[in-house]
Amino acid sequence: EETLRLLLSRIKDVPDYPQPGVMFKDITPLLADPAAFGALTDALAGLCSTYGATKIVGLEARGFILAAPVAVQAGVGFVPVRKAGKLPGATLKQAYALEYGTAEIEVHAEDLAPGDRVMVIDDVLATGGTAEASLELIRRAGAEVAGVAVLMELGFLAGRARLEAVLGGAPLDAL
Ligand code: IMP
Repeated sequence: EETLRLLLSRIKDVPDYPQPGVMFKDITPLLADPAAFGALTDALAGLCSTYGATKIVGLEARGFILAAPVAVQAGVGFVPVRKAGKLPGATLKQAYALEYGTAEIEVHAEDLAPGDRVMVIDDVLATGGTAEASLELIRRAGAEVAGVAVLMELGFLAGRARLEAVLGGAPLDAL
């Protein structure tokens, strides 16, 4: 409860960013506060152990900032899922729909393998499109989805319902 209050107090609502009508959740004040950032990585590392995850996928770009220290803390590997065109090796790619147009994410094929139990971490769950596409990548690599954890869930966008439909019973936690 106290931890949650601390985290909430360090998230800034920025109106009309990046476009009019959007209330952007800015986590940079949280990252700049070592007590808050530490409390967040502790909570996520706890979930990693609850999930029994053996690898952590971070979603570009803010997901990287959260997932990397959690992976070190939990003693599991970190795997970046990147926007298309940034990884030099052989990749698996997954396209997904945006409000206007499509986007594509990818992962190095050799970073995920059968037997891996993968936790996905991102800062914000909005429509769930990005997280859903990452689950596709994990499964196409033959790995298992252990759970998805985000700092915040924008409830009015119904990302939870969308994700729960494809999680196959794996947990979704929004701190
Ligand atoms: P979704 O695919 O619609 O669920 O969008 C999730 C992605 O958009 C995540 O990678 C978030 O980092 C980003 N995102 C959406 N809304 C916000 C916000 O208000 N603050 C920060 N990131 C956001």
